[in-house]
Amino acid sequence: MAKPLRVLIIEDSENDALLLLRELKRSGYDPTYERVYAAADLISALEKQSWDIIIADFVMPQFSGLEALKMIRSKELDVPVIIMSGKISDETAVTAMKAGASDYIMKDNLIRLGPAIERELYETSMRIKSEKASTALREREDELRSLKKVNQLKDEFIGLVSHELRTPLTVILGALSTVMTEGDKISRREIKQLIGDAYFEAENLSDILANLLELARAQANRLQITEEPVNIRDAIEATIGRMTEQTKTHQFIIDCDDSIVITADRVRIQRIIHNLLDNAAKYSDPGTKIEVFTRLNGGEVLIGVKDMGIGIPAELQGKLFEPFQRLEQPNIKATGTGLGLIVCRRLVEAHGGRMWVESQPGEGSTFQFTLPLSGLGSYRAKS
Ligand code: ADP
Repeated sequence: MAKPLRVLIIEDSENDALLLLRELKRSGYDPTYERVYAAADLISALEKQSWDIIIADFVMPQFSGLEALKMIRSKELDVPVIIMSGKISDETAVTAMKAGASDYIMKDNLIRLGPAIERELYETSMRIKSEKASTALREREDELRSLKKVNQLKDEFIGLVSHELRTPLTVILGALSTVMTEGDKISRREIKQLIGDAYFEAENLSDILANLLELARAQANRLQITEEPVNIRDAIEATIGRMTEQTKTHQFIIDCDDSIVITADRVRIQRIIHNLLDNAAKYSDPGTKIEVFTRLNGGEVLIGVKDMGIGIPAELQGKLFEPFQRLEQPNIKATGTGLGLIVCRRLVEAHGGRMWVESQPGEGSTFQFTLPLSGLGSYRAKS
């Protein structure tokens, strides 16, 4: 059975083209073809469809085979081009091959055409296969590299979290063991202090675990948002009320209307505000102010936490909301897990809101997020 062949013929002589087609059929091909002999027609033929082979006359009145070759190669098409000529000098043949021709054939020796096409088609298919194989290999290598990177981040993260869990646990165990073994020898005030320390560290532990659980749920797409009326000012006050240590070191200011009520998940909203306030206190000097403000904007409320702390350089801000990322900032001793902000962003997004930061090194940071006033109902309708 004749093999189908899509052939573009660049030839001004209709007779020569017919001879060529006859030779193709004789060699066992069933050609579908287009004949062009001007640059503009060549471009549109190349753009219209793909070709198995291009056969170009070398000398034409309006256009030369060499020009045609240059145009084809400039389009970076992987299609073999066979040059045909009535007569061709060795020198011209070399020029054509250098310009990207696959072969050249004399018009009086058309018998060579069939085998030349067969060889070119075979070589092209091998080349395409090998290119596909190297692209696939490159993609696998990229995937492997990014998997290794994620794996390394996870290892670092596990190390960091274990360390962050162990530190409060050591304080808790130490305080409780002192109270148990020396409780009758030390004063009530010292006992109260030790229990207070243990309580504070237990709260730290509980925060780390809560963030870990939230991130695990978010990564598995299993964040279930409860919808209930939440008075934003009450949520802010309740969150600050539980931050006993931070309120001793920093001055908290609330700029929020007490009538803003939204439909949202109260526990999650308090977690977001808590994480932001905790960071604001961690990354700013004792004695400085931390402001929580709200603004109503259309169907949403904007909540912001502004500190007067170390700030974040613009080039690091993009990394802030990636999982397990802590920023390398000089002279910063604050410890952490790199969980707080990613959890905030996931919780905000699960409510249908957005979160971002504005910050200048040395001048402080303002983390802001929006929440739809009427809960997920309006978010689901939009998305
Ligand atoms: P953690 O504080 O536990 O390291 P986060 O996800 O809460 O993790 O924060 C990620 C990083 O972002 C922090 O390590 C810190 O470098 C930077 N960052 C967060 N909040 C602030 C802030 N208010 N001011 C300056 N840097 C901050």
